[in-house]
Amino acid sequence: MPVKEILQIGHPMLADRANEIDIKTISSPEVQDWIKDLVDTMRDADGAGISANQIGIPYRLFVMEITDNPRYPYKPKMPLTVVINPELTFLSDDKFTSNEGCLSVPNMRANVERHLEISVTYYDEKGDKQTKYVRGYSACTWQHEYDHLDGVLFPHRVIDSRSFCSWESFKEYQEAGYAKHVEELVSKWGA
Ligand code: ZN
Repeated sequence: MPVKEILQIGHPMLADRANEIDIKTISSPEVQDWIKDLVDTMRDADGAGISANQIGIPYRLFVMEITDNPRYPYKPKMPLTVVINPELTFLSDDKFTSNEGCLSVPNMRANVERHLEISVTYYDEKGDKQTKYVRGYSACTWQHEYDHLDGVLFPHRVIDSRSFCSWESFKEYQEAGYAKHVEELVSKWGA
């Protein structure tokens, strides 16, 4: 499957709520091709996740995967996860200040507050219903991708506009400190 163009902030499809997928169509070649395109595009861009509307498919589908990612060296690993029609519930008021970037927001990062304990139900790529309890840093990645399906990008959630930062400046001045912040979180909460 080809790597797709990633839509950039300001594109109307990134601002709209994406549509539910008819779960009877999950095994169809069309939906399976969407999944392959998403995985290929995410891996090509060294992303930790990507939602379907970021490549012009206005449906409630995203994929996540964190291996040895040069874009996010401090992130705990996550196996490839395909998520269709998710429902997300916050389980506590515990929050984490997550420094985020996005493939649809060029060369910009900033601080966003994310819940640390969530539960998710969704359909996987086989059409099987899954329920998961997610805590710690991975919960931030889930919320970032879930937001895309509702037309929300991380700059909409920024808690301090002075935290806006280029990727180069982040690497040079903030990454080491942030990696420690993430390490402390992971040791307390798990990945
Ligand atoms: Zn994003």
